[in-house]
Amino acid sequence: MKNKVKLIGKKINDLEKNLENCSICPRNCRVNRVAGQIGYCGAGLRAVTYTSFLHRGEEPAISGKMGSGTIFFSGCNLRCVYCQNHKFSHSIQGEVLTRQALCSLMLKLQKEGAHNLNLVTPAHFMPQILRALSMALSRGLNIPIVYNTSSYEKKEIIELLSGIVDIYLADLRYIDGEVASLYSNAKDYPFYAKQSILEMYKQQPEPVFDSGLLKEALVIRHLVLPGYIEESKRILEWIKKNTPNAILSLMFQYQPYHKAGNYLPINRTVSREEYNKLIGFLKGLDLNGWVQDLISEESLAGVHFKPSAKKS
Ligand code: SF4
Repeated sequence: MKNKVKLIGKKINDLEKNLENCSICPRNCRVNRVAGQIGYCGAGLRAVTYTSFLHRGEEPAISGKMGSGTIFFSGCNLRCVYCQNHKFSHSIQGEVLTRQALCSLMLKLQKEGAHNLNLVTPAHFMPQILRALSMALSRGLNIPIVYNTSSYEKKEIIELLSGIVDIYLADLRYIDGEVASLYSNAKDYPFYAKQSILEMYKQQPEPVFDSGLLKEALVIRHLVLPGYIEESKRILEWIKKNTPNAILSLMFQYQPYHKAGNYLPINRTVSREEYNKLIGFLKGLDLNGWVQDLISEESLAGVHFKPSAKKS
């Protein structure tokens, strides 16, 4: 843990300086967050958390028996039209935390028995989180750090996290820029996500398990969108070709939340026919991980996951 504190110490000043002309993520808003200006993500100077708890609905090797110590940060730099968490990701809602308060929250989750510290949508608060994390590590935080991201990130920022983050829980949402533009106003998403995920894979090329729990890994989550099975196939092929030892988490829990009802064809759930088609395709790829059942109701990620035969 001392090593992580040292690593953060080396990187934090430059990252904090970035807040004065924010280019932490691919949006490159160039706003001065220290002076109170707000960019695309809605985030200001202080970290804001919407909720935190022991999450038992993540993938089994992350939630374990006691749960994953999850902190949901408010705001988001991607803001998809179908976002399940739009209430607090499309606007800033929740508790404004000082670094001391965020540090205490991290330590509290560990004390409650969390198997890991799961930072959800952390990109826009990285400087604030790293400051708090450094304090928490110095005060005994010793569980794995999970970086739970949309992957709309800059490779340079992911490089800074080398040696600090133990588990990347990274979405790969789109591979076609036009689709990314339609639903997330981010035509460059595929470029940035692929670059970032390749960097994560460089840092965590093989998963490490201990007693069925993940200690180090890259887990790539893909949420299948209705009407986009070909897009999903291309994503799975990309994973097979570029990050074959990453753990795949293929998710079918899509529901047309938020504004999705106004968009064809994502105004419905994934059909059984689409599900079967994609599962058939996946079988030929021999990837490791979990596949979610096709479910008709809202469900937390991982509830219906099946570990693959190879690793779990
Ligand atoms: S972190 Fe927020 S303010 Fe900074 S570049 Fe990204 S969207 Fe803009």
